[in-house]
Amino acid sequence: ADAEIGLIGLGVMGSNLALNIAEKGNRIAVFNRTASKTHEFHQDAGPLRDRIVPCDTIEALAAAIRPPRPVIIMVQAGAAVDEQIAHLRGVLSANDIMIDAGNANFRDTMRRFGELEGSGLTFIGMGVSGGEEGARHGPSIMVGGAEASWKRVEKVLTAIAAKYEGEPCAAWLGPDGAGHFVKTIHNGIEYADMQMIAEIYGILRDGLGMAPKEIGQVFARWNEGRLDSYLIEITARVLEADDPETGKPMVDMILDRAGQKGTGKWSVIEAQQLGVPATTIEAAVAARVLSSLKDERVAAQAVYGGGVAPFPGGRDEVLADLELALFAGKVAAYAQGFAVMAEASRAFGWNLPLPTIAKIWRAGCIIRSQFLGTLAKAFSGGPVANLLMTPAFVQMMQEANPALRRIVARSAEAGLPVPALSSALGYFDSYRLGRGTSNLIQAQRDFFGAHGFERIDSSGAHHGPWGSGAA
Ligand code: NDP
Repeated sequence: ADAEIGLIGLGVMGSNLALNIAEKGNRIAVFNRTASKTHEFHQDAGPLRDRIVPCDTIEALAAAIRPPRPVIIMVQAGAAVDEQIAHLRGVLSANDIMIDAGNANFRDTMRRFGELEGSGLTFIGMGVSGGEEGARHGPSIMVGGAEASWKRVEKVLTAIAAKYEGEPCAAWLGPDGAGHFVKTIHNGIEYADMQMIAEIYGILRDGLGMAPKEIGQVFARWNEGRLDSYLIEITARVLEADDPETGKPMVDMILDRAGQKGTGKWSVIEAQQLGVPATTIEAAVAARVLSSLKDERVAAQAVYGGGVAPFPGGRDEVLADLELALFAGKVAAYAQGFAVMAEASRAFGWNLPLPTIAKIWRAGCIIRSQFLGTLAKAFSGGPVANLLMTPAFVQMMQEANPALRRIVARSAEAGLPVPALSSALGYFDSYRLGRGTSNLIQAQRDFFGAHGFERIDSSGAHHGPWGSGAA
């Protein structure tokens, strides 16, 4: 029993995570449902073979690990995780730690914590971001559970995590579901980032008539400036690639129908449950759903015409505006995501460290960027109502919002869909409007439902002079 840690599930993520753990000098015991995969994995591990203990049963896995035994579960989210937990419960003993590292819904994680209460076993819900490459060479790791469990695995997890200027992108964020919740919001923000990039691509392609490689160069240039991030970098690379089969730009050969596994949707559902507006993330999730209605869209184009008017303005001026507009949209999306986490922290008593979350997203994960460093600094001054109210971001939004406004207005006139960018603008404009229009909503509600309203000049509930017209 000399392995530092165990791992169940040698799929894409699990096998790469296991190699990463072994590479950092740890012995790791591994198990996979299909045993042949376990042995193939061991055979193919090259110089890391000696540090990997292949196990054919969960009993053998448990016996191979140094107590208290941490076991990472990296299988399909959902029922498969419950099956593994049920099995592990029979073979683990007090203080051993089961770590669900898949993309669990944090509500499942909360339930699992509840079910394990009093069993002596401990649990960690751990969000891992960075895809295959991240798992192999350094993911961003978001941990939820008891702090004592984190202490047992901290050394291994910080060793395998991505580093940003030497600081590991792994942290304990709070009890029970905190880690998986933060991962969910990470993915919601990722959806928003990707959708806004795709909308800008649409303007460049259909509004300005630019070719993929030209557009790729624009993104590559932007990656040197304030938009510097992994998603902008890979967008440039994607746009510059050719299809080996036809020689045409790869991106032109890909069907415009986006998939999703659910984490974006969960982030919207949780934002709604918490009563926090996350309109840009919502727009991004809805855009993927709309994209999947390919046949309907083709039919609608035949009815309405898919014509796009040329985008007005000189190219240099428009390009400068697009860069700033994308930045402003990004600020709004992150403001929303962090507001959802702040509210969840209150609602679930997690005490989520927002600056730490921004810091562990600076490297390893899909939304990694310089921008998150600025965001971490903005939040380190103490609690704030919204990212949009921190001095650094006030200045940035003052500079960037006029460009977002011009781009959204011109896109609307040209017939180019920009649902996420326009929702970002709508969020910003609603947020900065001291006197909104809900006075009218309150009047309507009082009219038809006698809900009452507050007056601007006296306290208490009041009713309007609607008389018997109200039903
Ligand atoms: P894969 O499909 O590559 O691998 C799935 C693994 O789960 C296999 O080892 C499979 O075993 C095992 N498995 C499936 N069902 C069961 C079951 N009922 N009982 C036991 N084992 C089972 O998945 P990924 O590695 O991509 O994903 C794993 C988790 O990581 C998921 O929760 C995913 O959402 C999450 N994730 C994935 C990322 C990615 O980029 N791919 C990024 C971040 C998180 P077998 O070989 O026997 O089929």
